[in-house]
Amino acid sequence: MKTSIATVCISGNLHDKLEAIAAAGFRAVEIFENDLIAYPGSPRDVRRMCNDLDLRIITCQPFRDFEGMPAHKRQRTFDRAERKFDLLQELGTDLLFVCSSLAPDAEAGVDRLAADFAELGERAAARGMRVGFEALAWGLHTWDYRDAWEIVRRANRANVGIVLDTFHIQARDLDLSVIRTIPADRIFLVQVADAPKLQMDYLSRSRHWRCMPGQGDFDLVGFMTALEATGYRGDLSLEIFNDRFRAGSPRAVALDGHRSLLSLLDETSRYLGRPVSDLPSLPAPAIVHGVEFIEFTVLQTNRAAFEAVLAAMGFSESGRHLTKAVSLWGQGAIRIVVNSHNEGFAQAYQTTHGTSVCAMALRVPDAQAAVARAAALFDAPHTGEVGPGELTIPAVRGLGGSLVYFVDGGSALGRWAEVDFTPGEIGDHGAGLVSVDHISQSMQYEEMLSWLLFYTSLLEARKTPSQAVLDPGGVVQSQVIESGLDQGHQGLRLVLNGSQSHRTLSAQFVTDFFGSGVQHIALNTADIRRTVAMMIGNGVEMLPIPDNYYDDLEARTELSSADIDELKALNILYDRDAGGEFYQAYTITLDGGFFFEIVQRDGYTGYGAPNASIRLAAQARLGRPATMPAK
Ligand code: MG
Ligand code: MG
Repeated sequence: MKTSIATVCISGNLHDKLEAIAAAGFRAVEIFENDLIAYPGSPRDVRRMCNDLDLRIITCQPFRDFEGMPAHKRQRTFDRAERKFDLLQELGTDLLFVCSSLAPDAEAGVDRLAADFAELGERAAARGMRVGFEALAWGLHTWDYRDAWEIVRRANRANVGIVLDTFHIQARDLDLSVIRTIPADRIFLVQVADAPKLQMDYLSRSRHWRCMPGQGDFDLVGFMTALEATGYRGDLSLEIFNDRFRAGSPRAVALDGHRSLLSLLDETSRYLGRPVSDLPSLPAPAIVHGVEFIEFTVLQTNRAAFEAVLAAMGFSESGRHLTKAVSLWGQGAIRIVVNSHNEGFAQAYQTTHGTSVCAMALRVPDAQAAVARAAALFDAPHTGEVGPGELTIPAVRGLGGSLVYFVDGGSALGRWAEVDFTPGEIGDHGAGLVSVDHISQSMQYEEMLSWLLFYTSLLEARKTPSQAVLDPGGVVQSQVIESGLDQGHQGLRLVLNGSQSHRTLSAQFVTDFFGSGVQHIALNTADIRRTVAMMIGNGVEMLPIPDNYYDDLEARTELSSADIDELKALNILYDRDAGGEFYQAYTITLDGGFFFEIVQRDGYTGYGAPNASIRLAAQARLGRPATMPAK
């Protein structure tokens, strides 16, 4: 199958759109009628522009309200079709794209509609053209692809075929099995879109909520598997209407689009165990075995204060970098790199963002393969400057310009700490923190789908449905991505947060931070009471939780009053789900707006969503981030 995109997916004028589409590596395009009408040049100019950009025009769509017109309007409708053929001819393309009629006076009846398509097919044949019929989910008489196929079948012309659009099929939850019975040479185009689970009318959902494959909840691999059974090898074209993409950069959206299609083709090939396109196959998506280290960039003058916080949380310095002002801190399986080197990537990141997480390293089975996959999916690889004898750890640019490193156990990369750092011991005076539980990133609302796709296309990951969390300043959308959790590893848990209101904590973080980044890191302990008590004893200030929260806990849980008193004294929040219990507590924020979370997860699988609004209100009460004091 060949990748394509409709101009309607992205913002800008037709020229900007086509340039962005070509730059993203597409070689075929569907021109949306409105884009052509609004363009000041002639159709021949558009044809030339596409030629220059090496873009093949599949069609100029749509052609509306064709079939079933009553006798007195029928001739006029065929005349309109002839004008559309003229246009397609000038554009140098041959597919008339008919979407099912919405005309209130359109007549029904499968043979009546088939007769219209037979006649249109004959007229098209006389001009060397083809006709494709798409059932809109909100079509008047034809809203099911199976009915569209029956009409096309009865029209019985080799140049009349069907257009399949995953939105119209999956928004209506239609059975996919009939797709398998359609001969490949009668499928003239396949359009792909995903969409989130939403209860709303089909038209509004289509016009505003379509998204790229992997960003929504459709079973697109199921669709592709049925399509593959037909032997279809034609165009696979993105057709996405989405308000966020209309507000986004044409280049970034086109690139995301291509990334999503390549990822879908790859996923389908993997599922079927054979290639479904002629495109080169990609290395497998990486299963994350764990977070190898988290790197903070800290100004030299702030370093002592920052390291004092780590020490108060039970971390010990376990190594110094051989050539740079970089230290390594550890506790349990957690490794934190504190980078105050005065040049290079971390320094540049520090200048823009202040004290912050500038990189995270993920432990995967094969680091080089992970980076090769990233490069094939158009992610930006990063090569850092390293001193003599040091390792170059493969990395790609992640959120807000931060880095995602890949480390594996199979190569020298797994020994980065021994190679790059003087040896040191992790002390035994820890606070019981054992591993990284989750990493929470805040970003612009408009970027959320893009970063979701970044992670889900790169990693073997699953996403949970997007959730709305109440912040005193508005609503925050939260989306969880998990990788490797069911493989017996620590895995990776990521939480992406974005907010449309500028008054939420998440949005303020993005503003204060001059961009998107890691807002908090949650660390696991097996005994949160002991851990938090030790941290408080060492001078770490925890986020104060109001007494009302604990009164409410008493009213809605089985916890004893003694238990609740203990949680209250330590500002620990509580939740439970079918899997078990969950405890969480937060430090107050550091100067960059970053904070740590401490969690105890006893079989619980969530993220404490019921407590998020309590935490956000507590943070809002404290006001602007202060420097976290430590003894
Ligand atoms: Mg469509
Ligand atoms: Mg959290």
